[in-house]
Amino acid sequence: MKFFIHTFGCQANKADSERIAGDYTARGYTEVMSWKKADEIVINTCSVRQSAEDRVKGLLNNIQNYIVAQHKRKPKIILTGCMTHFTNEKILKKLAYVDEVLPIGEVGFNTPSIRRDKVNAWIPISLGCNSFCTYCIVPFSRGREQSRPFDDIVNEAKQLAADGYTEITLLGMNVNSYGLEKVGVSLRKMLLNLDKPFTDVELPTNQSQYQSAKGIPPFVTLLRAISAIPEIKIIRFLTSNPWDFHDELIEEIAHNPKIDRYLHLPIQSGSNRILKLMNRGYTREDYLRVVQKIRAKIPNVVIGTDIIVGFPTETDADFQETVDFSKKIDWKIAFVARYSERPGTAAARLYPDDVSDQEKKRRWDILDQIINKDNMAVRPFVITSV
Ligand code: SF4
Repeated sequence: MKFFIHTFGCQANKADSERIAGDYTARGYTEVMSWKKADEIVINTCSVRQSAEDRVKGLLNNIQNYIVAQHKRKPKIILTGCMTHFTNEKILKKLAYVDEVLPIGEVGFNTPSIRRDKVNAWIPISLGCNSFCTYCIVPFSRGREQSRPFDDIVNEAKQLAADGYTEITLLGMNVNSYGLEKVGVSLRKMLLNLDKPFTDVELPTNQSQYQSAKGIPPFVTLLRAISAIPEIKIIRFLTSNPWDFHDELIEEIAHNPKIDRYLHLPIQSGSNRILKLMNRGYTREDYLRVVQKIRAKIPNVVIGTDIIVGFPTETDADFQETVDFSKKIDWKIAFVARYSERPGTAAARLYPDDVSDQEKKRRWDILDQIINKDNMAVRPFVITSV
């Protein structure tokens, strides 16, 4: 039996596909590089924007047309990834050509991966998200945040080192909140604690599987353990969020030469009014404070970001604040997205999608020109999640 996986979207999906391929191979299937040759086709979907969903539907149409025109036996089609947040029945009704829906949570952390890259290995360290930014589908499609046990991650990194890998990229929707999802206070409140030492953060007692230690964020403990593997030379992580960029993490990066000097830190908007509507939990001043601390401690750091233009009610004045902030921060790269209403999100329920496509495109062009004109080659491996 032959299988084919088509992956849409971010690194999290690519890492999931590597584990899905591992699962198929363990069951005796052979991977093929064209869906035309496959008995089973897995489509790992992305629903971050409407255009991503449209591409999935386009692929399904192509498969259907080919099968009908060539009188081929229909392959089994399995849909997984972020589009599966609708109930299975709804998907099966809407996309009649799909045979099975595999909720992404069922692709466990520990399924051995079939990796495409031979130098850099992706390691998921947490799944899901508790942050509920109003525009984002991830907390619904991938569920609540769940960190992977510390020893499993370190053992996988050791095995990768033994297999010849020298670079590790740790993945999570909130990668730097690793091990903190059970913390009683909201993570957003912790942003306000950024000026205090991490010792002040109350850690619950049931955190032993994340190796929590008083005064040290679990993510820092994890970085140290992976850095201690001699064969691993470079460690990256995606995606960090400003509210968990504690001083202890900044110190660790500053003093740990194995950690890559590119940091990806999404801002999403430079307007405090829009940040509030997005439920991002920080202001532009908070973000600036984090960046200033990072730059003071890590002189050769390169910072990139994600920005959404045309969020509902974003005025020209709001947008101008993002433009001004971009000039002030001087990101080396920005993944600028035009807002796209996602059914099921708070933003879709609460706010009208009232910025025209033409205006979104105009704003996109301006930011792209300001931030990315010379910099697109900075870190081509970064493809952001949302
Ligand atoms: S944008 Fe990121 S932090 Fe916010 S809900 Fe989505 S995945 Fe979570």
